[in-house]
Amino acid sequence: METNSDSNQPLTTPALRHGLAQILKCYAAGGLRRFNRVNQVVVSPNLTANLNSPLTDNALTTSRLATEIPAISSPATDRLATQKIGPVAAPIAAPAAEPVAELSAEPKVARVSLPLTVSTWQLPNLPESERLEKLNHLNTQVQACRKCEELVCYRRQTVFGEGKLQPRVCFFGEAPGADEDQQGRPFVGAAGKLLMDIIKAMRLSREEVYILNSLKCRPPQNRTPLPEEVDNCRPYALTQLEILQPEFIILLGAVAVQSVLQSTESVGRLRGRFHHFHGARVLVTYHPAYLLRNADAKKLVWADVQMVMRELEANPPN
Ligand code: SF4
Repeated sequence: METNSDSNQPLTTPALRHGLAQILKCYAAGGLRRFNRVNQVVVSPNLTANLNSPLTDNALTTSRLATEIPAISSPATDRLATQKIGPVAAPIAAPAAEPVAELSAEPKVARVSLPLTVSTWQLPNLPESERLEKLNHLNTQVQACRKCEELVCYRRQTVFGEGKLQPRVCFFGEAPGADEDQQGRPFVGAAGKLLMDIIKAMRLSREEVYILNSLKCRPPQNRTPLPEEVDNCRPYALTQLEILQPEFIILLGAVAVQSVLQSTESVGRLRGRFHHFHGARVLVTYHPAYLLRNADAKKLVWADVQMVMRELEANPPN
């Protein structure tokens, strides 16, 4: 049994128990009820002295108890301790480094951390008719948008996005290319064909999902969107997601990550686990255009989308 080093008395003397009870009452009176578990309480001579004298604020703060036990709960620590991060799948071992260079250069914006807070959708869950009305209204705004001067000069038309109005899964890409700019539809070129193969492999169809991009206008020569262009277009894309309220958002490539998660972490670091955006679980994986150049990455994408497939099949719609 541990003893008080000064008096060689056992720790369980009535005086000590009484003293500890008094201290806990003091904490409770101050509204402090939660303490982190400690493996060992070291009782110092100062503490024993405090226990044998009337308890005062000063006695508490100068005793080692105040420094060794507490880790007292506060609104901030409570939030972290009880924060629901939601189901997080076992991470697939991410490669130590990118298998090959990303298709898009790393955007030159300040590195920011992913938001920890899990929130819910801000809009109510709308019926299809209202979703359609809101999306049409948003599309009208997009068509009139002239925020990115260079893109406005270059675009043939805006590419808003398309798909099911109540999708379980949204695919979120980078920006329209030449085919998309011509047809006004997302993912209709070579990368689009590969995306359709991925969607089919997931036992879904194009009509069952929704597809959109970070930018609604084609960058000249299909260059990587500039961070300010992603910022300009983010409100449209995020409003779209808010209206659609999918269960899963699959972010295709670094620009999509920049738009939705507002992170400049690489795809290689973020893939293989679920993140969150409002009420949706978010999966990060490589853009199909990247796979056209780097076939080896297909198995990584397949591993990623299988995580979503497992969740979809485990939780079929009502
Ligand atoms: S990319 Fe988006 S923000 Fe930029 S001009 Fe087109 S619609 Fe507007």
